[in-house]
Amino acid sequence: MAPSEVIEAQGSTSTKPTQHQHRSGGRLAHRSFNHEPLMVNSAHGLQIHLANGQTILDACGGAAVATIGHNNDEVKAAVQTQMQQVSYVHTQAFTTRSAEDLADLLLEGGPGGLEMALFVCSGSEAMEAALKLARQYHYERGETERVHLVARRQGYHGNTVAAMSVSSNVARKLPYQMEGGGGLVYPHVSHVSPAYAYRYQREGESEDEFTARLLREIDDEFQRVGPGRVMAFVAEPVVGATAGCVPPPKGYLAGVRALCDKYGILLILDEVMCGAGRCGSFFAFEQEEGVTPDILTMAKGLGGGYAAIAGVLMHARVVDALKKGTGSFVHGHTYQAHPVSCAAALAVQRIIRRDGLVERCAAMGEVLERLLREELRACRSVGDVRGRGLFWAVEFVRDKDTKETLDPGVGFGVKVQVAALERGVAVYPGSGTVDGVRGDHVLLAPPYTVTEEQLGVVCRVLREAIECQEAKYLG
Ligand code: PMP
Repeated sequence: MAPSEVIEAQGSTSTKPTQHQHRSGGRLAHRSFNHEPLMVNSAHGLQIHLANGQTILDACGGAAVATIGHNNDEVKAAVQTQMQQVSYVHTQAFTTRSAEDLADLLLEGGPGGLEMALFVCSGSEAMEAALKLARQYHYERGETERVHLVARRQGYHGNTVAAMSVSSNVARKLPYQMEGGGGLVYPHVSHVSPAYAYRYQREGESEDEFTARLLREIDDEFQRVGPGRVMAFVAEPVVGATAGCVPPPKGYLAGVRALCDKYGILLILDEVMCGAGRCGSFFAFEQEEGVTPDILTMAKGLGGGYAAIAGVLMHARVVDALKKGTGSFVHGHTYQAHPVSCAAALAVQRIIRRDGLVERCAAMGEVLERLLREELRACRSVGDVRGRGLFWAVEFVRDKDTKETLDPGVGFGVKVQVAALERGVAVYPGSGTVDGVRGDHVLLAPPYTVTEEQLGVVCRVLREAIECQEAKYLG
């Protein structure tokens, strides 16, 4: 593969699907400066129509973004109405019905004790806000020595400086390492082992023993740093992009919650990718008893691709500390709670609730799992198939028995993506290096409206795309 064909995207390598190329003006900075992505003319439901006449079945919702499909008339009408009423006001002095109603809808019934919502424009912004919020919580309570963040060597939390600091993507961090060590600009960060059973659960170790070992490591890390210095523990309940749809072992999140409680450390759950119904429950954390985040972020499924919107949801104890202290969150953006974005997200969320799409996501997820396991059983390169709801990943290996990874230079996941695109299906590739082991995967995250028939096509095409790469790279 020529160097010009390779980009590092989300810690992954991607290749240009040359045959689909359709020239753009050349002035827009694409993910790679060296190749052009596919030109899209329109999209409806799960179908993406390209300028070259090809139609692609969207089996990944972009990057787990689209939840109700593309081009929904009700969402378009809601956006138009909002535009006609008020397109923008600044939140310093004003609010709008759509922003208030969106917060009310998400927090109805006080899920996990969450009480207040802040809306920003991206997952990274939401994580940046969440990290600052955790700091302000301790500051208001006079615990100003709490500056340290503990995260996991397999998380992705965004591209802004603090969010990148808690992330583990080595390639994305490299250009920004500071002289003299200390990582990125935010230096008080350490990482513990990922809750990644396929690669971290030891031979003969039960799930409970694995969970207990991971929790001991977190406790040890809190002790090493000094529990009174730790501000927050940061984790995705189901890991998204870095290793691909990794659910934690049973009892892990509840155990983390208990450890945080023991030391007065906040728990920040990043549901930017796995939330908003994607895992088959509205919040991914709800699938385990006894887990309540202090701060929760969500983004992709919130607006379902109709708006650039993300949410930061705060537990009552965080709200209370801020109310008793400064009286506000010392943080703000010009486009915070943007009325048009909130109107779009509100329409998406109302559709999800009205049409029972979270339940549908859980049910179709079972179909997807069955089809994936059936179709890919004989594939030599498929080491692991894992996920929840409509959030599934297929991890590729050179050898199923030893779990030896493929040559990173090949970019196997991206090759599978390109082969699937040629056959009319979009999947999302990724790779991450955890403790020197570089895993390759593709991710499936179709809209919750996907049909069984479409899932059948996706799994068949994926198998063909994988087999075609196996013939080339496994001999
Ligand atoms: N957190 C997680 C878990 C994510 O998957 C992502 C994006 N893939 C982000 C944060 C950052 O979101 P954004 O790209 O919208 O800034």
